[in-house]
Amino acid sequence: MIGVTILGATGSIGTSTLDVLSRNKDKFNIIALTANSNVDKLFSQCEKFKPLYAVVVNAEAADKLKVKLKSVSLDIQVLSGVENLDYVASLNETDYVVAAIVGAAGLSSSLAAAKASKRILLANKETLVMSGQLFMDEVARNKATLLPVDSEHNAIYQCLQSFNGSQGLSDEVRKIYLTASGGPFRKTDLKLLDSVTPEQACAHPNWSMGRKISVDSATMMNKGLELIEACWLFAAKVDDVQIAIHPQSIIHSMVEFIDGSVMAQLGQPDMRTPIAYALAWPERIESGVQSLDLFSMSSLEFEKPDHARFPCIQLAENAMRQGGIMPAVLNAANEIAVQAFLDNEIAFMAISEVVERVLAQTTYHEVNDIKRAVNADSDARLLAYDVVKSMATVGLTGSKNHA
Ligand code: NAD
Ligand code: MG
Repeated sequence: MIGVTILGATGSIGTSTLDVLSRNKDKFNIIALTANSNVDKLFSQCEKFKPLYAVVVNAEAADKLKVKLKSVSLDIQVLSGVENLDYVASLNETDYVVAAIVGAAGLSSSLAAAKASKRILLANKETLVMSGQLFMDEVARNKATLLPVDSEHNAIYQCLQSFNGSQGLSDEVRKIYLTASGGPFRKTDLKLLDSVTPEQACAHPNWSMGRKISVDSATMMNKGLELIEACWLFAAKVDDVQIAIHPQSIIHSMVEFIDGSVMAQLGQPDMRTPIAYALAWPERIESGVQSLDLFSMSSLEFEKPDHARFPCIQLAENAMRQGGIMPAVLNAANEIAVQAFLDNEIAFMAISEVVERVLAQTTYHEVNDIKRAVNADSDARLLAYDVVKSMATVGLTGSKNHA
């Protein structure tokens, strides 16, 4: 039996992981489940899956969980505090760590899993965006196994098959195609983009996701962040990765080889497929995902992204080329800008403007430790708040002239 710890068990990836595990009870034991503060959800997961440990970051919430578990006589060790995320990620009983916490809060525990030589099923994008070099170095140094859960990266991993991360991208690879749906505004008149609402931005055509990531999909910043992820995961250069808009979201990414072969991974847009692949690799297990109905598909289309419509892509490419803290700054400024858009403080096209201004005002530094990445993140947030405020003051709520 393989021991699995899920960091961020109550989230969307965590819940999908538990669904896959529940279909494969003969292979996996659940060692620890963690949550930030959602006691009710973690409690019902504990009742169903009976882990050895439950970690709730918030101490008050942890006390509530203890009381609830006692009332049903469940003997599960409840821990609180961020340091215990690292602890359960490093436990001897833990073989696999599903890194599914959202945001910078996931950095430390991903690194702890790498240092403890675990198999890491990585969903948390920020680990690579904010501290890619540090994390990949720890993975290599400690011979940890890294399997990407993000659907595109999981697809690329499947297409590369025998890829060995520590040796760089093979000479046999000509190009990585990172596919993207293009979001809800792929065809919207450019002049109308400034007046789109958060509700319109959150109406993703193919995947059902949270509001922040839905906006990232509409601006294509999500693809920019994924390009950064792909560069770290596959030791690729920015120019090795071509973003391709594929509105049907059936192909999850592709790899072209020097002999002209293009390998693609297809499937339903359901995160249980990449999760099951990462759990079972190099084998396969049931995921609960239904078959792809090839005969109901009328066409598979591809387009190059329009950089005037999606300026976030080039901002991400430039940040990755610059390196150091710049991708962390890009990510932090974007989070503030997206929240300001969701709060109706700035217009949709102002999101990229905020990120661009924050990057322009930032001085390059290397990332030698987590503290540097986390500081770059908090400094960029402060700067982004100022930029948002200054836009609101002069009524510049996203006034790029598209004429
Ligand atoms: P989510 O918001 O649904 O869940 C996040 C989880 O992290 C929850 O369990 C929450 O309790 C925990 N958490 C939040 N803040 C925390 C904190 N400060 N400290 C400790 N735990 C905290 O997020 P999600 O959609 O499951 O995404 C998780 C990660 O996976 C993100 O980095 C996301 O970008 C990435 N990802 C998600 C998807 C998807 O389809 N949902 C796809 C690809 C990648
Ligand atoms: Mg993705």
